Amino acid sequence: MPSIFTQIINKEIPCYKIAETDQFIAFLDINPNAKGHTLCVPKQEINKIFDMSEKLYLDLMCFSREVAIALEKTVPCKRVGVSVIGLEVPHVHVHLIPLNDMKQMTFQHKETQSEGELNALAKQIANNLV
Ligand code: AMP
Repeated sequence: MPSIFTQIINKEIPCYKIAETDQFIAFLDINPNAKGHTLCVPKQEINKIFDMSEKLYLDLMCFSREVAIALEKTVPCKRVGVSVIGLEVPHVHVHLIPLNDMKQMTFQHKETQSEGELNALAKQIANNLV
């Protein structure tokens, strides 16, 4: 069974897309810790981040950095936090979380945003990509 992120990559289920390349996609997390919480995902379905080739790992970090810079331009925050977990979705993804408070890194504090707000935010972040 393909992961939920592979289904997003294959356009079988929708997402609030921010960026896409041949190898990676970035979209908003549907259950965000903070406004702008973004996931950067390799299209190749690999379970654990340190099982990736060194090249793909470094390319994912470069892609995540570009998205994080656009995110920080868009969402007022002290800094963008980075986390890699994968306990819920076993397909590599880098969480980028605009932070004002440590509790936003706990994955227990959640924000509620409407579909319209999420759509608008994804477009604003995309517009700030260089
Ligand atoms: P983890 O695997 O523990 O790193 O967490 C997976 C993350 O994926 C969680 O923050 C979920 O809210 C997020 N997530 C799960 N399904 C979707 C989806 N369809 N679109 C966007 N984010 C999702």
